[in-house]
Amino acid sequence: MADELLYDAGDFGPWLKSKLDPSTLANAVVACGDCSACCSTFDAIPIGRDEPATLAAIPVEFLQRVENQATGTTLLLTSETHVCPMLRDGACSIYDVRPRACRIFDCRTMAAADLVDKEGRHAAMGERVDKWVFSYETDDDRARQLAVLDAVEFIYRHPTAFRSRGFSYEPSWTATQAIRIHELFLPEREKNQETEIALISEAIAIMRRWADIEHRVD
Ligand code: SF4
Ligand code: SF4
Repeated sequence: MADELLYDAGDFGPWLKSKLDPSTLANAVVACGDCSACCSTFDAIPIGRDEPATLAAIPVEFLQRVENQATGTTLLLTSETHVCPMLRDGACSIYDVRPRACRIFDCRTMAAADLVDKEGRHAAMGERVDKWVFSYETDDDRARQLAVLDAVEFIYRHPTAFRSRGFSYEPSWTATQAIRIHELFLPEREKNQETEIALISEAIAIMRRWADIEHRVD
């Protein structure tokens, strides 16, 4: 334990607040150091039509248009082992014009939601996620962390409700959504059997509001 390397994830409260600020959809500040684990994790990386510099920097053989999408999204395809073709010698070769999806990705969301997956294609990222350590300045910070964990449990408790509306259960997605709906699970909210269906409706409404914001950014 003594020689285990840990990483400072920052103060939980301010960090959480930043995740609820739509302006952070433009960029996330993560102290990645020499880590590039998330560049070897996903099947594909979406690129919006308002990212021409990004599209121009990527060889066409790695790009796939997604038809019938209002946002005109193009996918940057990764290899069979999920490695991004723009990853060279452990670093992003198009860093200055990397996709927005890469710029806003913050694996601390999974640390905050305690969604640490060290299996299969998530293994390398899971190892990194497991090493983030938040600090908590106030009781409210701790209450919000617990609310995020409750939100994760809630999302997993209602797979039919969320899957039937097209929501993914990818760990990073689940963590992001749990953060967005966590205020439904703060102690001051009265919880009982009667509110469960209402909670699902409220959660879905919040997720859809964020989806609309994300499409506007696209
Ligand atoms: S896995 Fe996390 S720390 Fe590593 S590059 Fe991705 S966002 Fe940064
Ligand atoms: S484009 Fe760059 S930052 Fe994005 S996944 Fe590929 S190598 Fe990583």
